[in-house]
Amino acid sequence: MNPIITGRHGEKRRWKGVPAAAGIALGPAIVYRARQEEPDLRHLTGASDVPGELKRFEDALACVRQDLLHLKAESGGSVRSALAKIFDAQIMIVDDAAIVAEVKRLIERDHIAAENAFGQVVGNAQRSIVRATDPYLREMVNDIQAVKTRIINRLLGVEATLNQPLASPAIVLADNITPADIISLRRDCVLGIVTEGGGQTSHTALLAKSLGIPAVVGVALDVRRVRSGRLVAVDGYSGIVILEPDAATIEFFERKKRRTLAPWPKKYGGLRDLPAETKDRHRLQLMANIDLGAEAPTVLEAGADGVGLFRTEYLFLERGKYPTEKQQRDVYAQTVRALRGRPLVVRTFDLGSDKAIPGHVQETNPALALRGIRLSLRYPNTLSTQLRALLAASARGPIWVMLPMVIGPEELQDAIHHWSAAKAALASRGIRFDRKTPLGIMVETPSAVCMIDELARAADFLSIGSNDLLQYTLAIDRGNSSVSHPSDSWHPALWRQIASVIKAGHRAKKPVSVCGEIATNRMMIPILLGLGIDSLSCHPNSVPVIKSMIRSVRYAELKLAAREFLTLASELDARGFAYDLARRLGIR
Ligand code: PEP
Ligand code: MG
Repeated sequence: MNPIITGRHGEKRRWKGVPAAAGIALGPAIVYRARQEEPDLRHLTGASDVPGELKRFEDALACVRQDLLHLKAESGGSVRSALAKIFDAQIMIVDDAAIVAEVKRLIERDHIAAENAFGQVVGNAQRSIVRATDPYLREMVNDIQAVKTRIINRLLGVEATLNQPLASPAIVLADNITPADIISLRRDCVLGIVTEGGGQTSHTALLAKSLGIPAVVGVALDVRRVRSGRLVAVDGYSGIVILEPDAATIEFFERKKRRTLAPWPKKYGGLRDLPAETKDRHRLQLMANIDLGAEAPTVLEAGADGVGLFRTEYLFLERGKYPTEKQQRDVYAQTVRALRGRPLVVRTFDLGSDKAIPGHVQETNPALALRGIRLSLRYPNTLSTQLRALLAASARGPIWVMLPMVIGPEELQDAIHHWSAAKAALASRGIRFDRKTPLGIMVETPSAVCMIDELARAADFLSIGSNDLLQYTLAIDRGNSSVSHPSDSWHPALWRQIASVIKAGHRAKKPVSVCGEIATNRMMIPILLGLGIDSLSCHPNSVPVIKSMIRSVRYAELKLAAREFLTLASELDARGFAYDLARRLGIR
């Protein structure tokens, strides 16, 4: 991540970060600051400053109110109409007479600056809500935080805040940005994303990929020093970010952009309807991962056998709350119908961790806190609602239901209990569904790997979530580029677990898939094939090239290679072995 080029005044202009979502973007920067900077405590010089300070505060309230009304009016379409409700709640907070009166009292009595007074009063309100047991009250914490950020930033003269849709196309530069933030920006206006934080498998990176937004994460660029409006060039293939590129660089980026506009090269066109089968006729299921139901047609166009992972949490993130049973059933039914008979593997909500849940207290260690199935079982109504919606949609096409972050058979048994209850509830309502709908699990915790024989017996299928399995195995935060590195996924600890999961699945006669990012890595796929994986679920754009690769190799050869690969004890050796193998196979 060293700066490579510097400007005339020695200013850094070029960075290399982690390429997170392919594509080229060129456009003006808009700088977002996700971190709320606590303003330094400032006192007024005396009583004579009070009227001016009160006016400054009232002006900030009026401006923020206006912004929120404008955003609400702009809301349209599925994502934005849900946001309208969020903006309503935020306007109510701006209008809260008790908060406004208390802030004014502090300005008048203690002569403290408006931003400090507002921060103090709202901070007290947040703390009392965090202690409340009423879930509705607790849900307000995020809205209060959003209003606090807006008003304090307005008072400090900071222009952009998150949750503020972009007015015109721009490249978003942020210290950090969450999937919910991306959803709340106007998607058609986000040309590219550059963040200081984040790793290649962070959910932000995955969402950017799904939305086709070029992104580079883990860039050692202090976004606070960049002025909005400066031209930025982003290369989501190589991870290069250039501030104020010169004419030759602009031309180079424009050319590269034109070259990469075609969805996939012609040479893959003829593969769409051919099976993902090796030369010696070993057939694999080649699936695609999606984050939004609307992506289903792309999956078919790419020639995938179906969807191997539908991350439903975006249904939650775009609304800021759990969707109703009907809303969910409609999305699942529409998505499976769009797949025209091909299977749709739907993961139940994997909320928590970096896919933060509005209204929940910020945990000290979110990746180890309430998330995935643990969260769903803590609030079983949300799980039952989703299971009923999924079952009801199964009448429209083959749906497979998958539980995230399972750590052992007890959790699976609890979920199976809710699964049976959901079936009984639909039957009693006379709603048609497919009784044979499979219920499987994601294997993405080392604990699940330890308990894999019991889990494989009870589940209908297994899908390895290598992104989380790696994070929890190596104790490396997948979203933190200072500790996570793309080469981590060569760690033998991951591969030996994958091998044992595949074996256990096959002993129990259950199919095993991989839906983590390693299933998109061309160097890793030969090894996964050789280990006997039944199904791969990769990014839709990668389907043609992976299919072409699968069709060019021999399974018998890969089986032998995988056996040898498993004996290697270092990342370096594993990587070297796989690259040699790929070279021998003619894979680039
Ligand atoms: C994984 O962990 O590998 C996975 C596919 O799930 P997610 O990336 O959504 O956590
Ligand atoms: Mg995961």
